[in-house]
Amino acid sequence: MSEKYVEVHNLTTWYDPAVPILEDVSFEIGSGEFICVLGPSGCGKSTLLATLSGLKPPQAGRILVDGEDIYDRQASLPRLGYVFQDHRLLPWRTVSQNISLALDAAGVASEEHEDIIRTYLDALQIGSFHDAWPLNLSGGQRQRASIARAMAIDPDYLLMDEPFSTLDELTARELRDELLRIWEASGKTIVFVTHSVHEAMFLADRIFVLSTYPGRLYRTIDVNVPRVRSHEDVDLAKLEASVIEDLLVEWGQKGAPAPEREST
Ligand code: ADP
Ligand code: MG
Repeated sequence: MSEKYVEVHNLTTWYDPAVPILEDVSFEIGSGEFICVLGPSGCGKSTLLATLSGLKPPQAGRILVDGEDIYDRQASLPRLGYVFQDHRLLPWRTVSQNISLALDAAGVASEEHEDIIRTYLDALQIGSFHDAWPLNLSGGQRQRASIARAMAIDPDYLLMDEPFSTLDELTARELRDELLRIWEASGKTIVFVTHSVHEAMFLADRIFVLSTYPGRLYRTIDVNVPRVRSHEDVDLAKLEASVIEDLLVEWGQKGAPAPEREST
């Protein structure tokens, strides 16, 4: 594995001290790794990404990027691409204008925008939607646009929060293939949250499995299945079946998430 890039040491976080969300979570992510964070709804996956993004200081523990604590006041915040379950494109701006806005926020000179926008729209195969309004795109095209926006700023790492979970399975498969192509070409580090064991197996180098209440790093799975992977790969299917069996016990024992604590 390449040199350490992101280190999380003994991370504990909550919104209400009576309700711990993540407790004593530690891991390292190598530069260029594809990590999936897998856990049931409400276990703290989105909270973990918010903490990795620099937006939610932990109650205890440290997050280092290339050795620098991102919550240290002197530290420069990581430049990151964030892709959410919903596309979060501004509906009153065209696709290219949405990306331009992100480039502005990242401090990229405006004369460079057009070249960058075209490069990433082409990479995501939505070059012809440059001037389209987000509302006129399909769900898959919107997620392509939001991945293009996240990649266009040349992020230190990419955080993806269940980006394909609302898409139909065929569209989701296309986008997973696309994402893997772009990841391999770019060498970016990706932290991808999902509640789907199959999706995690298909995408990840390693999977961090969280337990619930409180969220702890319960297991790390090395997915030693060569790429390019097929959805029908027998080794992948066997690994998936054994992980599901294990998780049914672990997640099942703790019970379902409390209904009044809606996940975000
Ligand atoms: P996941 O992404 O795994 O579904 P989340 O990280 O969104 O889980 O949420 C973990 C827990 O924290 C849930 O019980 C959720 O209700 C609670 N939570 C999430 N965001 C907030 C918030 N801003 N304020 C209070 N509680 C929150
Ligand atoms: Mg979530």
